[in-house]
Amino acid sequence: MVLAKAIVAREPAPDFKVNWSLEEIEVNSPGENEVLVQIVASGICHTDILLTSVPSGSFGITYPKVAGHEGSGIVRSVGKSVSDIEVGDPVLLSFYSCSSCWQCKNSHPAYCTSFAVGNYVGEQKFVSARDSAELLGSGFFGQSSFAQYTIVKYSSIVKVKELLHHDKELKLFSPLGCGFQTGMGAIQNISSARPDDIVMIQGLGAVGMGALMTAKMQNYKAIIAVDRDKARLELAKTLGASHVLDTSDPEFTTLDQAAKAIFPHGVSIVIETTGVPSLIEQGLQSTHTRGKIVLIGVPPLGYNLSVNVTEHLNAIPQMIKWYREGQFPIDKLVKYFNAADYEQALKSLKDGTAIKPVLVWASG
Ligand SMILES: [Zn+2]
Ligand SMILES: [Zn+2]
Repeated sequence: MVLAKAIVAREPAPDFKVNWSLEEIEVNSPGENEVLVQIVASGICHTDILLTSVPSGSFGITYPKVAGHEGSGIVRSVGKSVSDIEVGDPVLLSFYSCSSCWQCKNSHPAYCTSFAVGNYVGEQKFVSARDSAELLGSGFFGQSSFAQYTIVKYSSIVKVKELLHHDKELKLFSPLGCGFQTGMGAIQNISSARPDDIVMIQGLGAVGMGALMTAKMQNYKAIIAVDRDKARLELAKTLGASHVLDTSDPEFTTLDQAAKAIFPHGVSIVIETTGVPSLIEQGLQSTHTRGKIVLIGVPPLGYNLSVNVTEHLNAIPQMIKWYREGQFPIDKLVKYFNAADYEQALKSLKDGTAIKPVLVWASG
C-alpha cells in the first residue's frame, strides 16, 4: 500500500459544478492484469469535467472517485500476469479495453463492447486516507491519472521506453492519450479526406489542434479553422490553417455563410469538436452535397461520447515521431500547472487560455 495525493471528485453541486479536492488516498498493490504507476503528469480533458459534473446514478456514475484519463509515469510494480513491463519503465496512459470481446480480438479496442463501463464507470479500489471506510472510484478510463500513484489496467498502458530520448519528455507527452489522439484519428481514420478536399475544423482545443496538425501533413486543398478566440486562430495559422473564421467577430453571421463566402460550393469535410448545437447545424449546412461531418464534440446534454476513434498502440508512437519531425508541435499547446493548482488549470481550460492544461505530479 502507498499513500498518494490525488484529486478526489465528490458529488457535484446541483448547478453541475465539479467538486474536486486534493486529498490523501491509499493505493493498494496492483491486481493480476494491473500496474502501479507513479504519475509524472496528467492532462486535463473536457471529459474529466463532464464525467465529474453529472449527478451520481446517470450512466452508472458514482462518487467519490479519482478522474484523469491522460497521463504519463514510471512503473513501480506489476501484477502477476504482466510480463512485458518492468519496474522503472516509462509509460503513457490511454483508454481501457477489455482485450476479450470480439472488437478487441479484431484489434479494434476503441470499439470495445465494454467501453462505457470500463472507462466511464471503473472500479472502487482506492481508499480515503482520512476515513478507511470510504472507498473511492479508481480505474477511470483504466487509469485514474489524477494521482501521484495509481493502479492502471494493462490495456491502458502504452510502453514508450524505446521512444523516449529522455524521461523528461514524459511531461510533454503525457496528454497524447486522448485529445490530440482523437483529433489525429478523426482526420486519419474517420474522415477519408483526399488531397482535393476542403477541410473545416470547428473548435481549436486539443482535439481540433490535433486534427489541424494532422490535416496539414496531408496537403488538402484548404484547411479552415474556426474558433471564437483570436489567439487560438493566430496559432492555428502557424500550425497550417489556410483560412480562419472568427465566430466572435461582429461581422460574423453563420458558419455556412462565412464558409461559402470563401468556397461557394461549400466545404467537403467538417471536423466538429465544439459540441455547440448551433455550430453543428451550421457545420452541416456548410458542406457540399457529397460532404461529410465528423462529430466529436460533446453537446451539453446530448452526451455523444464517440470520442475514441483511434487505436493508441499505433497512434501514440506516430504522434511522437511527428513531434520529432517538427510536424506535431504539442510543445506549443500544453501549459503546465502544479497538481495542487488544479483549480487554476480548470479555469484556464474554461476561459481558453490553455489549450491543453497538464498537471505535474513529480519531476520526471
Ligand atoms: Zn473489448
Ligand atoms: Zn479525453
